[in-house]
Amino acid sequence: MSSAWLIHAPQGYGKWPALQRAASALLCESPVNGHADGHASARLPAALTTQRACGHCASCALIQAGSHPDLLVAAPEALWPELGLNPADEGAGRSESKTASQDIRIEQIRRLNDWAVSTSHRGRAKVAVVYPADALNPAAANALLKTLEEPPEGVQFLLGAHRLDALLPTIRSRCRQASMPRPTASEVRQKFGSSAAEASELAWCQGAIYQPDPAIGLEWAQTLLASLSRSSARWTSSTLPPPPDYPTGVAALLKIASDLQRVQAGGDALFLQQQQQALSELARHVPPVKLGEALHRLVAQQRRAGFPLNQALASDSLLLEFSQIFSTGD
Ligand SMILES: [Zn+2]
Repeated sequence: MSSAWLIHAPQGYGKWPALQRAASALLCESPVNGHADGHASARLPAALTTQRACGHCASCALIQAGSHPDLLVAAPEALWPELGLNPADEGAGRSESKTASQDIRIEQIRRLNDWAVSTSHRGRAKVAVVYPADALNPAAANALLKTLEEPPEGVQFLLGAHRLDALLPTIRSRCRQASMPRPTASEVRQKFGSSAAEASELAWCQGAIYQPDPAIGLEWAQTLLASLSRSSARWTSSTLPPPPDYPTGVAALLKIASDLQRVQAGGDALFLQQQQQALSELARHVPPVKLGEALHRLVAQQRRAGFPLNQALASDSLLLEFSQIFSTGD
């Protein structure tokens, strides 16, 4: 059996809860056959879903307490609160610096490598979870590669990645890869009801329901669209509503721009389905080439991601640049 799985899916598809569930099942001392329907883990490859954790053995108790010695999680420090991790889970891997790192650092992988060759505490499997693997910085990725090339006996690696192309091809080739399909209808029902507001949130996140806030940026996008539709005069940063923050602004503009492109090509809006009318109207004022360029820029901006030094300034120019794709008769 291969000792490393690489599970990939867009952000918000539930890789983290699924990998946690799989890790618990691998470590459980009296696992139960079959998986739980309606949980993200049911969408993992069959090999990882044949059994589930019992929930009450010593191993399960240690996992619930966040202190299982045979489970190691490598995740960017900035994500620990969101992932529900504490420094104990990380083997006390908190960095010295004041700002939490967005990367998985080399120190974390060195610790993982040392842990991987040590003896199992409970005499069973050991599981290392690397999430998201896209966040491995180059030095950390190379250090992990060394271990994946000669995996220590009895260690199961579970890597979760948002984007495969962000990973070293050499890491990818050392893993069994599986893409995780979209959340199922029953998972969606658990998260969303059926009101109009919930329908627009669901369209906006396109199945990425496991994000901390699936509707993030939606309200702003709707307001922006209304502002853009209202006036055909030249927009300034004071006539357009500022985004909640820069990364949210970039992500939302990407969705607006791709919907404009879809509508321009005669299709239906995907993210802003209830704004089809406004989008069609606006799409008539955007030259397709300019729209294509704007999409290209936004994709590049999203890859750079993170918060720029001067957020307000960056958001202003982001908006102005976007509003300029609309021809206003000159
Ligand atoms: Zn158990």
